[in-house]
Amino acid sequence: MNNKAKEIAEFLKENDGFSLVAHNGPDGDSVGSILALGLTLKLLGKRVRMYSSDPIPTLFNFIQSIEEIIIDIPTDFNDILIVLDCSDEKRLIVQEIQYKSFSKIINIDHHPFNTNFGDYNFCDSEKIATAELVYFIVKELLEEIPKEIADPLYLGIYTDSGAFGYDNTSPLTHEIVSELLRCGTSPVDFKINLEKKSYEYLKFLSFAFQNIKQFNDGTISYLYISERDLQRFELKDYSEIDGLIDYLRNIEGTAVAILVKEEKGQFKFSFRSASKFDVGQLCREYGGGGHKKAAGFSTLEHPEKIIPKLINKISKNL
Ligand code: 5GP
Ligand code: MN
Ligand code: MN
Repeated sequence: MNNKAKEIAEFLKENDGFSLVAHNGPDGDSVGSILALGLTLKLLGKRVRMYSSDPIPTLFNFIQSIEEIIIDIPTDFNDILIVLDCSDEKRLIVQEIQYKSFSKIINIDHHPFNTNFGDYNFCDSEKIATAELVYFIVKELLEEIPKEIADPLYLGIYTDSGAFGYDNTSPLTHEIVSELLRCGTSPVDFKINLEKKSYEYLKFLSFAFQNIKQFNDGTISYLYISERDLQRFELKDYSEIDGLIDYLRNIEGTAVAILVKEEKGQFKFSFRSASKFDVGQLCREYGGGGHKKAAGFSTLEHPEKIIPKLINKISKNL
């Protein structure tokens, strides 16, 4: 694996002009990976632009230099496009990002079944976060990792590992993190800032909890949130409800948790498995993807139509 990191690092050293992107709907790993690699390339004197197609969750505002990420779609086709934490072209909002027009594409990711759409592909589904892969590239490029770069790497690893508790959290994860702490990252800052909740969110939770539905003797827990619900509770930021599905997964007896959010006229389905049931496989059948225990897809079809089919399928396979 270090050979692959070395190969990509060599390519980055020899070239200039980079646009960095990740999947739509940014999370800690996509944002952290963009920022860590982007800032590293800047330190090497490269011309770098970091992009996010959607606003960055305000929860991450405490991360230094986060404002360097531009909320837009890259169009500098002479650039080399670096795609992070994105398993397939569809999640790049292909209609808007004409990714094939870029001079070269580098694809760095940890999702299973990555489609290897890059000219260079550095993909490893054993890794808990794309930020772990970025760490190895950064190590090839810098002698010492400044705190400003250690922090976004920690953000990616902390969030995608569920604070070091999900499958694939490995001895290597902790080795990387121990180095990041030596570079100045403060776990206290992360815990305090990432666990902060607004008063409005707690009010919203009390409403949402009343609408949880259970199926198949409580083995499937389901919640639907409409755009109107979010507006009614005046949530600052839709990303505030990102952790909501964890409550469903943690209900005793739940094997599969399903959260559906209405978002810009689409329906975003999120799944978590607390059993052997592979939600990644299920979501690929619906044009989405993800891991065995966390996955999703988006569709224009109303959940009322799909949910009964999904419940049926999951129940039969539990
Ligand atoms: P979340 O439910 O937190 O949005 O996503 C859980 C996991 O599933 C993440 O690894 C995420 O990248 C993946 N995922 C969510 N939605 C989609 C989707 O529409 N397509 C693909 N390929 N993966 C998704
Ligand atoms: Mn991600
Ligand atoms: Mn990730």
